[in-house]
Amino acid sequence: MRSMNPTILAVFAHPDDDALSCMGTLAKFARENYQVHVLTLTTGTRSNTSVGLVRLSEAQAVAEIVGYTLTQHDLPDGRLTCDIDTVALIEKYIKQLRPQVVITHYPQNAGYGHQDHDMVAAATVNAARRTSCVECILYAEPPVQNWGFLPNFFVDITDYIDLKKHAIALHHSESSKSYMLPDIAAMRASWWALQSHPDNYCDGRSLEPFVMVKGLLGRDTFISSDYSNSEYATAPMTFDEVGGHNVPALPSPHLTSAGQ
Ligand SMILES: [Zn+2]
Repeated sequence: MRSMNPTILAVFAHPDDDALSCMGTLAKFARENYQVHVLTLTTGTRSNTSVGLVRLSEAQAVAEIVGYTLTQHDLPDGRLTCDIDTVALIEKYIKQLRPQVVITHYPQNAGYGHQDHDMVAAATVNAARRTSCVECILYAEPPVQNWGFLPNFFVDITDYIDLKKHAIALHHSESSKSYMLPDIAAMRASWWALQSHPDNYCDGRSLEPFVMVKGLLGRDTFISSDYSNSEYATAPMTFDEVGGHNVPALPSPHLTSAGQ
């Protein structure tokens, strides 16, 4: 059964991945009455700074302040595979939640990203592409190294950058890692504003970047008008209303050899 409000499902490997890559976007849509769900597939216990299952409780604290529902699985950290079981698990949530928007990792070329991220991305896109309700699939910014990442879609998170910084800081057990510094995340968001709008628009703004792998570039909405005339009691927000921005399509990241 479909939900009443537009729904976003974000699928990531580890408990802090969503905070780093798209927390501002998730917060923004949660405030705009989207139903926002985050699914993480591992407990992140192989992290050299993790203590027991503390990362799960940190992630739960973030979910509470941001306002989304969090589902955590305990698949083998560091050894995720894109097999029928992983695809079926993600597909189960897609069929249950009926999201219009699915966000997942950006799959980087071998050697530049975390192997779990690549597997989650492949499994998620596999499942999402075969489900008719999913209108838009977005790859989120890699949490550390950006080689090969050429975003073609940006969300203005200026009003949510402080919340994102707070969310990242709540992952105390990972705080010794340089990329987990809240100020680094803010700097990256400012840098993306400059990259996407090299004019006065970027002044003082913070943007989160995505690669849209399924969707309609050039439109100012990513939720089709179909949702306003049938089962949906609440008209969906347009992406303009929540401050999303399309930019002209760039070459496919899979055809680009940046960083190699
Ligand atoms: Zn991760």
